[in-house]
Amino acid sequence: MGKVYLTGAGPGDIELLTVKALRVVKEADVIIYDRLANPDILKEAKDGCEFVYVGKEDSHHTLPQEEINEVIYQSALKYENVVRLKGGDPFVFGRGGEEGIYLKQRDIKFEFIPGITSAIAVPEYAGIPVTHRGVTVSFRVVTGHESSGKDHSQIPWENYKSDDTIVFLMGLHRLKTIAKKLISIGKPKEFPIAVISRGTRPDEKTVVGTLEDIYEKAKDLPTPALIVVGEVVKLREQLNWFEK
Ligand code: SAH
Repeated sequence: MGKVYLTGAGPGDIELLTVKALRVVKEADVIIYDRLANPDILKEAKDGCEFVYVGKEDSHHTLPQEEINEVIYQSALKYENVVRLKGGDPFVFGRGGEEGIYLKQRDIKFEFIPGITSAIAVPEYAGIPVTHRGVTVSFRVVTGHESSGKDHSQIPWENYKSDDTIVFLMGLHRLKTIAKKLISIGKPKEFPIAVISRGTRPDEKTVVGTLEDIYEKAKDLPTPALIVVGEVVKLREQLNWFEK
């Protein structure tokens, strides 16, 4: 019986892969990977390594999670070194916990290998610090998507009145609703917001706007994309370094 490495692939730029993740990728007998994991990472695998794509879209799953869990489990019965490669960090809306529990229940050994999460690194490449002295003392990472069948009230909007920086993952398709909601809880219409598309990749693009105009400006950006709300967005004027 093998061991499963539930591994964060980082946000896109292949050099943001950790040394530890690179080691397990090189040793892997099979790599089960997501749409958000940079496929160039697979070039680091040894000859004969098997690749299994279980791509996950923002709003639907190419394979249902239960099937992904089973693919990982079956791989562990067959191979010694199983790498489950996921975009960003496995625990940040990555379902790493669910996969770990599934394996635990079946007595399969596993390790988690943290990855650099897009929630922090993507704003960083756009020149937007999630915290900044004198501007904000905290940040939140929120799903913009929410489980299907559940109503929006799952997000505790009333809490978002504070000055926290808010990073919405999986929220581009709900950008209009998110901006409206923030206005409805009392944020000014001119409040700064940014959408960052394909962060840390060569084609990264950031659009900065206000809660009022961001939807029109950013709605057609390609995914993956995340949303940053907060006064920190203005720091991009001085800190933008990656997008030329
Ligand atoms: N575990 C991942 C997040 C998974 S949720 C992590 O830690 O990064 C998927 C969402 O992450 C996407 O819908 C998008 O909002 C965001 N995302 C991931 N990679 C991104 C990238 N390179 N640029 C912009 N957003 C990204």
